[in-house]
Amino acid sequence: MKVLTIIGARPQFIKASVVSKAILDQPGISEVIVHTGQHFDANMSDIFFEQLSIPKPHVQLDIHGGSHGQMTGRMLMEIEGVMLNERPDRVMVYGDTNSTLAGALAAAKLNIPVAHIEAGLRSFNMRMPEEVNRILTDQVSDILFCPTEVAVDNLKQEGFANKPVQMLNVGDVMQDSAMFFAQRAAQPMGKVHAEGFILTTLHRAENTDDPVRLTSIVKALNEINRSIAPVVLPLHPRTRGVVERLGLQLDVQVIDPVGYLEMIWLLQRCGLVLTDSGGVQKEAFFFGKACVTMRDQTEWVELINCGANVLVGAETDLIIDAANRNHGRSVTDPHNLYGGGQASSKIASYLSSPSVSVG
Ligand code: UDP
Repeated sequence: MKVLTIIGARPQFIKASVVSKAILDQPGISEVIVHTGQHFDANMSDIFFEQLSIPKPHVQLDIHGGSHGQMTGRMLMEIEGVMLNERPDRVMVYGDTNSTLAGALAAAKLNIPVAHIEAGLRSFNMRMPEEVNRILTDQVSDILFCPTEVAVDNLKQEGFANKPVQMLNVGDVMQDSAMFFAQRAAQPMGKVHAEGFILTTLHRAENTDDPVRLTSIVKALNEINRSIAPVVLPLHPRTRGVVERLGLQLDVQVIDPVGYLEMIWLLQRCGLVLTDSGGVQKEAFFFGKACVTMRDQTEWVELINCGANVLVGAETDLIIDAANRNHGRSVTDPHNLYGGGQASSKIASYLSSPSVSVG
């Protein structure tokens, strides 16, 4: 069984770090890794391959920038060429980026079966590019590796139970990564607060591409930094660009994007996570920290339902108020919401022998 895996963005490297290892350990299955180049800065790509010992991509494309359509279209063309060359038995894609959709679509058009890791997640907001990517990817996949029961239910609502596909709740591969690398946390370079700081990430298009929302969030971060606790913000390059273009003043501790081991160090020591990231909402939970999410919806609704995470949108006062109420609050996981760190081994064993029961 030869699996061709498409990755291209930071969260996909972190997920691949555990899944590719599990595949290497599994007899009877080999993996060809294709990096699309969607994320290409050293601190958004290379650092993860080095730190997390991800196998070096067999094929390195160099596709980034341009509009969503341009990027996805170029990827579709080039990935198709790679697939014709490699002739894999199966293609595997992660999550919801343009690389995910281009990989899935290229495979579907060549009649190569597609496995989707993180299938079934929905925000129910079709204005998010990620929502479009994940819905279309699920539609052309025949193995849907879901991270949660909610994701399985979403697919059932969309009629997937009547299709000739496999829906399996294997748990969340990001919990595997968090558990695997927790002991190897590394202190970021430079001066960082000892503990109790508010770890913030900010890069979702709905916030960065809307000057009103971004301005309101920046105002909140500055006030939180002044009156509640220091805000540490590893700033995504896209957000940095927009902040500079709009001339916004960030009076918080802005640092360059950090590696995953540094991110774990920050997660272990912070007093609160304040984010618009998908993955970071769960990582707060894995490390026992409350989370305030600066979005209007989340795909990880079980965290809202159990009170670990609160959704506040982009309004200054709501963000400040939620940060105030949640700073220093710890959370627990009595219901093992994300499978307990077994997802990647379940995925690898299912891919090598689909008759094995894993869901
Ligand atoms: N992350 C990182 N360094 C940073 C910021 C985030 O390693 O400076 C990690 C984070 O811990 C998580 C992943 O990147 O594992 C999340 O990626 P991102 O927020 O870019 O994407 P999303 O999850 O929103 O798709």
